[in-house]
Formats: sequence, C-alpha cells, structure tokens
Amino acid sequence: MAKETVAQKAVRLVAEGRVRMTALSADTCAAVVEGDTLDVHGERPQYETRLQGRWECSCAHGVNSKSLCSHAQAVQLVYRAVRPALGR
Ligand SMILES: [Zn+2]
Repeated sequence: MAKETVAQKAVRLVAEGRVRMTALSADTCAAVVEGDTLDVHGERPQYETRLQGRWECSCAHGVNSKSLCSHAQAVQLVYRAVRPALGR
C-alpha cells in the first residue's frame, strides 16, 4: 500500500473524529487533535492546533517545520468548510 500522504492523513483524522474544535469564529480557530503515535502510556497524544496569523501546532513537526503537519491540515479542512458560515 502506498504511504499515506500528509493530506490523506489529515482527511483520516477528520473522518475518525479525532479533531475537536475548541474555538471557532471568523477570526479564531483552535482545536485539539489526537495524534497517531502512542506515548509511553500507550495513549495517543493530544496536539493543540490553532490559527494565529498562521497555522501552529504543538507537535514536533509543527514547531520545527514550515510545512503544515497533518494535524494543522485536518483542522484547516474543517475551518475552510465552515468559514463561509462564520460571516467573513
Ligand atoms: Zn501537528
């Protein structure tokens, strides 16, 4: 099977209900996203992703890379879908 792309993973995170929006308005978007990689307790990490001028995420990729991680892309998918209803 071909390796899942970041964009495909983002869609999967949305489809699996692993994106929980915590703030959503025309100016604000924040969410908690459940990651894939199990931690030492066998639990999935919770990453905080938000739109703050640009997309930011608390995962290692989000902190270290300019390209968007799958968590930020997943939140972006939801945000783009609802933005017309947010009034701007
Ligand atoms: Zn991330």
